[in-house]
Amino acid sequence: MKLLAGASAYGAVGSGGAADAQATHYGKMADTIRCIGCKRCMSACKRWNNLKVERDELITDRETDLTSNNWVVVNLLIDDKNRSRKHYMHLACQHCIEPACAGVCPVKAITKLPEGPVVINENKCIGCRYCFQACPYKVPRFSFEKRVTRKCTLCYDRIPLLNYMKPACVAACPVGALYFDYKHEVIKEAKRRVHERGGTAYIMGLTEAGGTDMITILPTRPQDLNVVVAPQKVVNQNLDKIRITAAGVMGSAVMTGLMYAYAALTKGKESRNND
Ligand code: SF4
Ligand code: SF4
Ligand code: SF4
Repeated sequence: MKLLAGASAYGAVGSGGAADAQATHYGKMADTIRCIGCKRCMSACKRWNNLKVERDELITDRETDLTSNNWVVVNLLIDDKNRSRKHYMHLACQHCIEPACAGVCPVKAITKLPEGPVVINENKCIGCRYCFQACPYKVPRFSFEKRVTRKCTLCYDRIPLLNYMKPACVAACPVGALYFDYKHEVIKEAKRRVHERGGTAYIMGLTEAGGTDMITILPTRPQDLNVVVAPQKVVNQNLDKIRITAAGVMGSAVMTGLMYAYAALTKGKESRNND
């Protein structure tokens, strides 16, 4: 219910028409060079979204994975080319501009809101996990308790309802490693920080997966940091759907063939035994 109520409220924010479309499109930035790995963002996300805290996951430097109860993780990054350099990466949904997850959802439970957030309507989700397969970052995770897939919402239920408060994780960061603003301001701020550091850092999200509303400043290219390298082009949603459906159809055809062959074989054996 929280999700549905929030969705309509967020929709109201963007009702000013094309003129303020740019102004009402939001983005979030994570700066891995500034992050100190304190994981306050993870705790704040859990508090706001009422998510279960697992033992040990909030300890600094303890590697954690996204789960249906962990919508954001902060993990240590080691630069392969310079192993003495350590950075922390805040990783959550990238809020893709053309999200592959939404494209493959067979019941249209995932929506890209005009303001930026990609949200799953848990009342519609049937837990098929196609979104997990399609997502280049493997973000949506299945909850065995709720039987639905869950992920970061960009706090769309918080921003408009509570007078434009920042997402819970951004508000909790003590060192300004997280930043939230209109999308064009987020890009401007990312470029400003990169320039300030001599231009060697890498901005992830400008082109990855066709562009995302979550931008991450990395000390160097993602491939040198063992960070997922998403394809630069937009993941073709319909192609993905066809691929998944085709895989399903082929899988069923193979299964049916195997079952048919097995039945024919056992039938032959049975008739020989009865002779
Ligand atoms: S990162 Fe994955 S879950 Fe998030 S919007 Fe993109 S495709 Fe969807
Ligand atoms: S934006 Fe909101 S839902 Fe997403 S990681 Fe931050 S606190 Fe969690
Ligand atoms: S709260 Fe800020 S500094 Fe702490 S782990 Fe999260 S992003 Fe890093």
